[in-house]
Amino acid sequence: MKRIGVLTSGGDNPGLNPCIRAVVRMGLHLGLEVMGIHRGYAGLIDGEIDEMDARSVGGIIGRGGTILGTARCPEFYDLQGRKEALRTLNRFGIEGLVAIGGNGSLSGALELHRMGFPTIGIPSTIDNDVNGTNISIGVDTALNTILDAIDKIKDTASSHNRAFLIETMGRDSGYLALVSGITGGAELVLIPEEKTVIDDVCQTIEDAYIRGKTHCIIIVAEGWGPGTQELANQLQERQNELGFSVRVTQLGHVQRGGSPSAFDRLLATRLGAAAARELIAGNEGHMVGWVQNDVRLTPLAEAIAFDKQIDRDLCELARVMEK
Ligand code: ADP
Repeated sequence: MKRIGVLTSGGDNPGLNPCIRAVVRMGLHLGLEVMGIHRGYAGLIDGEIDEMDARSVGGIIGRGGTILGTARCPEFYDLQGRKEALRTLNRFGIEGLVAIGGNGSLSGALELHRMGFPTIGIPSTIDNDVNGTNISIGVDTALNTILDAIDKIKDTASSHNRAFLIETMGRDSGYLALVSGITGGAELVLIPEEKTVIDDVCQTIEDAYIRGKTHCIIIVAEGWGPGTQELANQLQERQNELGFSVRVTQLGHVQRGGSPSAFDRLLATRLGAAAARELIAGNEGHMVGWVQNDVRLTPLAEAIAFDKQIDRDLCELARVMEK
């Protein structure tokens, strides 16, 4: 293998840039040429591809976002789109591909691998819902962003004796909400994986008020049903019995941005470097993950077979700490 390509695809997160940098620099170190593919699978189909050198990834380790851009590409779900991508790869003389992204992007990588093209995946998603890795690139930085917001909101919540609903990202995965709730000292965490009825939320808020707390912080994953807005409406109606008045903060896309944390920079560097090494070692069709403090290969088919289950021990821990 002489020339490999690298792309970032799907939802963006902090940590993509250090990962691209690591793929490029390890690739060059191993004597490969490395091509940067812009806008994920869309740029792969359209041939938006440039050669990268050590300098083209200079100064990006601390930058959020992705210098290659990312995209969602409906055409790639179809065989025709993927055949088009294969033609582009041939045209540019690319013999192996490193795909960085979440479950969707890794599914795309698996499809390419099944068509006979050497492909390796790197898990990068703030949802932390990919199997075969304890943690995905971007999660740590997103958690730190949420914690910063929780700390600030606590200050204002305490000053005014308020309950706050802080909504985090996570349509199907409660990981960000759960871990930011534990580490941010929240009074309650609401996640899609656990059913919590609104009466129980009211009870928590009332108890916090009666016990003399100056605030009540509730972290809500965006995928929790009945939903943040419905909960806010009901809490506002019952404000007199709850004690606290209620406010809502939706953190939204700030969770995807920012300078990657030290943890994410190191994780991205390790996994990016490992991906380049494993690709030329012939371990295509795998994902490089981080398991028990080491790089571990998992077949892509296993990595995307089902969404990772929420850690029940962490859920238990949250319950104990929410006092
Ligand atoms: P993420 O990688 O963050 O989970 P998406 O689920 O949006 O993001 O997937 C990103 C892109 O990966 C999609 O727009 C599509 O191009 C490609 N992709 C996702 N799933 C598949 C699949 N089953 N087959 C082929 N390509 C896929």
